[in-house]
This record gives sequence, structure tokens and C-alpha cells, in this order.
Amino acid sequence: MTHDPNCIFCKIIEGKIPSRKVYEDDEILAFHDIHPWAPVHVLIVPKLHIPSMVELNDEHAPLMGRMTVLATKLMRELGVSNGFRTIVNTGADGGQEVYHLHLHAIGGPRPWAKG
Ligand code: AMP
Ligand code: ZN
Repeated sequence: MTHDPNCIFCKIIEGKIPSRKVYEDDEILAFHDIHPWAPVHVLIVPKLHIPSMVELNDEHAPLMGRMTVLATKLMRELGVSNGFRTIVNTGADGGQEVYHLHLHAIGGPRPWAKG
């Protein structure tokens, strides 16, 4: 499935639910997390509805590479200068809440609310 009408991140990608966008291209959207753990907390999502990392295969390697490099670029642009965390939660035991693949990029001066 490339799009799931019931998926909250698909709705954000379509503009049906508002978000604070920080980056967009043909394949990727990045926006601020609605419940940030830290001064800077963005989610980087593929526009393709991939439910989780479980569904990844070799063809997704370039996409995941671009998402990872984008995390570094966005942290720099958003003023994060002392390190950051990147997290992908996968499945029930991984603590995943939204089943549309996303990379958390989290930074800014501590203390943080979480993490
Ligand atoms: P997880 O699936 O546990 O990796 O995390 C899902 C993340 O999505 C959480 O950090 C939520 O705060 C965030 N989130 C859920 N709904 C929205 C939304 N409408 N806009 C921005 N972030 C959201
Ligand atoms: Zn989706």
C-alpha cells in the first residue's frame, strides 16, 4: 500500500491534518513532533506509506539513507550544535505508536522531557 486513508501521517502528507513542516521533497516530509521530548524534535517520514521498519527491503536503502542524512542537515539548520538522538521505534516491543515509518531526530540543550 502506498497510501493509507486512515493513517495520521498520510493525512499530514496530504495536508488534511496540519503540521509544522520543516522540509519537503518528492519522497520525504519532515515536521515538528506534536509532543516534543526536547527543544528540537522533528519526525522525518517517507511519503510512501511503509508501516514500519519490518517492511523494509533492499529497494528502500536509498530512501532510508536520504532520511538519515536529512536528520543531520535539519539538526544543523534548527540550531542543534551539541549532538542529537535519532530513533526509529519498530513494532509493539519497539514502542511504535504510529504505524507509518518515521525517524525521530531529537536535540537541543538538556534537560529533556524524555529520552
Ligand atoms: P512512535 O510511533 O512511538 O515512534 O512515535 C509517534 C510520534 O508521533 C510521537 O512522538 C507523537 O508525539 C507524534 N505524533 C502523533 N501525532 C502527531 C501529529 N499529528 N503531529 C505531529 N506529531 C505527531
Ligand atoms: Zn501512512
